[in-house]
Amino acid sequence: MTAPTCRLCGADLADTFVDLGMSPPCESYVAADQLDRGEVFYPLHVRICGQCLLVQLPAYIAAEDIFSDYAYFSSYSDSWVAHAKAFVEDAADRLSLGEDSFVVEVASNDGYLLQHVAQRGIRALGIEPAANVAEAAVEKGVPTEVLFLGEGTGADVAGRHGAADLVVANNVFAHVPDIVDFAKGLRRLVADDGTVTIEIPHLMRLIEGSEYDTIYHEHYSYLSLLTTQRVLAEAGLAVVDVEELPTHGGSLRTWSMPVESARPPSDAVAAVLAAEEAAGLHSLEGHAGFAEAVARVRNDLVEFLVERSRRGETVVAYGAPGKGNTLLNHCGIRGDLVSFAVDRNPFKQGKFLPGTHIPIRAPEALAEARPDYVLIMPWNLRDEIADQLHVVRDWGGKLVVALPRLEIL
Ligand SMILES: [Zn+2]
Repeated sequence: MTAPTCRLCGADLADTFVDLGMSPPCESYVAADQLDRGEVFYPLHVRICGQCLLVQLPAYIAAEDIFSDYAYFSSYSDSWVAHAKAFVEDAADRLSLGEDSFVVEVASNDGYLLQHVAQRGIRALGIEPAANVAEAAVEKGVPTEVLFLGEGTGADVAGRHGAADLVVANNVFAHVPDIVDFAKGLRRLVADDGTVTIEIPHLMRLIEGSEYDTIYHEHYSYLSLLTTQRVLAEAGLAVVDVEELPTHGGSLRTWSMPVESARPPSDAVAAVLAAEEAAGLHSLEGHAGFAEAVARVRNDLVEFLVERSRRGETVVAYGAPGKGNTLLNHCGIRGDLVSFAVDRNPFKQGKFLPGTHIPIRAPEALAEARPDYVLIMPWNLRDEIADQLHVVRDWGGKLVVALPRLEIL
């Protein structure tokens, strides 16, 4: 295999950001009748481009293989639906969206966001590659096209539906292998005086919080505001404003416009760029040290689990999100250290976690098993989940998170 090249600038990717070894695709939950079969593991070797500084995972797995039958339904997270509703209200005010407006969301999932747009009487269109998820959106009354966005499909959709006043791409930008073609697709969808908003996990927060479980095969690019600007510029889009959000351990929401109509960037853009530069993100050397932080998290978690096992105490995982699988596989954790996982998503219940083969049950299994410890996998929702799990304390159980550092709550 020849050395991978940068998906933004084409340079050879000679530098490593962090190498997490081999892992199966994190959303490939295993059915009971497949447990005796082999499972394919792919590298999780994250590189950084020495030329443009884009931190990236080579496309070891094609997006079509991951997203065409996706198990993730956004509406299963209460806080995520609330986040989407607040976003729609903010965007409608900021851009004065009314009944004549047109909003397109890319990776619209099950309509968790566009349902709020439609409820305001604003024309909405979803674009979603996973047919099973798109079907759920249509049932909510959100028209949805099943396709992957690129420059060609973007032009096609705009030709049939018209250019959009607002194009929303929340938590998809980092999940497309050909990020430049995707950005060009966004430009094709948006009107010449329209707006594109993108939400991305912020690389600066990932590094600060040692959030390495947010690294998985579907997450192809790990973006700073600087590298996001560079990608969007390739598509003729300019960032005019940015917000810092607490979601996904720390995200950025950028507001961009076509360069020909873009106003000068806000003070917030300059402030985030300055913070990134101070954190070392505008130089190659500034990205070093992350691999050591990852090793510390792994050592602490494995030590904790082995110690519980020695004492005969039980640990159960709460939540079976894709991101948890990076952590469990990297740490070599199996069913002997974490008995089972519970998840609210019925699609996952009765299946097994990829690689580790830890069984997934319904949340009710928790009260039956009364484990000594409950390891909260989606640590970014720890407060919401700790509220839901107050019953664990009734039998003397304790809640634990592994990130950003091991903590018994
Ligand atoms: Zn590059």
